[in-house]
Amino acid sequence: MANETISVEGATVNFTVRQGLFNRGKREVHAVDNVSLVLHENETVALVGESGSGKTTLGLSILGLRELSGGHVLWRSESIATLSPQQRRAFRRDVQVVFQDPYASLNPKQTISEALRRPLKLHKAMPRSEMDAYIEQLLDKVGLRPAGLYMHRFPHELSGGQRQRVAIARALVLKPRVLVADEPVSALDVSIRTQILNLLKEMKAELNLSMLFLSHDLGVVRFIADRVAVMYLGKIVEIGPVETLFSEPGHPYSRVLLSSAPSVKPGEANRFSMEVMGEPPKPTSPPSGCRFRTRCPLAFDKCTTVEPPLVNLKPGHFAACHLAAEVASA
Ligand code: SF4
Repeated sequence: MANETISVEGATVNFTVRQGLFNRGKREVHAVDNVSLVLHENETVALVGESGSGKTTLGLSILGLRELSGGHVLWRSESIATLSPQQRRAFRRDVQVVFQDPYASLNPKQTISEALRRPLKLHKAMPRSEMDAYIEQLLDKVGLRPAGLYMHRFPHELSGGQRQRVAIARALVLKPRVLVADEPVSALDVSIRTQILNLLKEMKAELNLSMLFLSHDLGVVRFIADRVAVMYLGKIVEIGPVETLFSEPGHPYSRVLLSSAPSVKPGEANRFSMEVMGEPPKPTSPPSGCRFRTRCPLAFDKCTTVEPPLVNLKPGHFAACHLAAEVASA
C-alpha cells in the first residue's frame, strides 16, 4: 500500500444555526460527525453525497479552511492545527484546491499570467525571469494552446471550460502533492466535462498527485476515482474500491444513489432499484440510531436505537448498516 498523504481521524465539525421567531433560537448542526479517512499517494478518493451530506465541509477542513470541533487532520503525520509557520507554508504549497465555479475563484482584474505568477511570487518558487516560460509551459499542459494567446487575457474573455483549465493550472503551479477538487465539472457544459475530467486524470498521473474529488455525480466518480466514500448527514456510510462499491454496494443509501445514476455502466441495465422514502431530515435534528432510517426502505426496529458501525465486507470495503452483508449480496 502506498504511503499516506493526508489522513482524517475522528473529524467532527459542529456549528450553530439560528432558528425561530426573530432568529432567537439556536440549534447545533453536526455537519461532519466523527469521520476517519486516509488519502494515499497517487490515489483518487471520491467523497459522494447529496447537498448537506458534509462532503464540502470535510473538504474545507482538510484544506485547513474550516476549523474542526473534534478530531484531527494529519499531514505527514502532523496535525495541521499545530503546524509551525514553516510547515504551514509547505502545507499551503503542497495541498491545493479547484473549486466548482472557476469564474468566482479567479480574480476578474488579473490576467491569466498574473493569476499564475502570484502563488509563484508568494512562495518564492523560482526566479522571476523564469516565470513566464514556466507559465506558458503549464498553460500548454492544461490544453490552453497556443499558451501565448491566453497569458494576457482576463477570465471574462474565456469560456467556462477554459476558465476551469486556468483554475487547474493555478492549482498545479506550485507542483502540489494533493489536489482537492470540489465539484470541478458540475458548473460546466456536458460537452466540456469529459475534457476536464481527462485533464485531471492526466495531470494526476503525470505529477503523481493524490486527489480528493467531491461530487454528487456517480457517473463522474466512476470515471475518476480509485476509492469512493459515500456520505450521509455528516457520516461516511460506505467506503470501498470503486468497482466493488459500484457492483456490490453494502448500504441502502449507496444503492439508492446507484439506482438513480443515469448509467451505471454503458450498455448495462441498472439493477439497483431502490428508492428513498420521504424528505431528508433536518441536520439540526438527525434521527436516533441509523441516520438513514427515516428514508430507508429496509429499516427495522434495531435501526431506531442502535447506530450501525462500519463493518468490513471485503478487503477495503466497509458499510455502516445492520444489514450490510445481505444488501451487498442482493
Ligand atoms: Fe437501513 Fe437500518 Fe441499514 Fe440504516 S441500519 S441503512 S435504517 S437497514
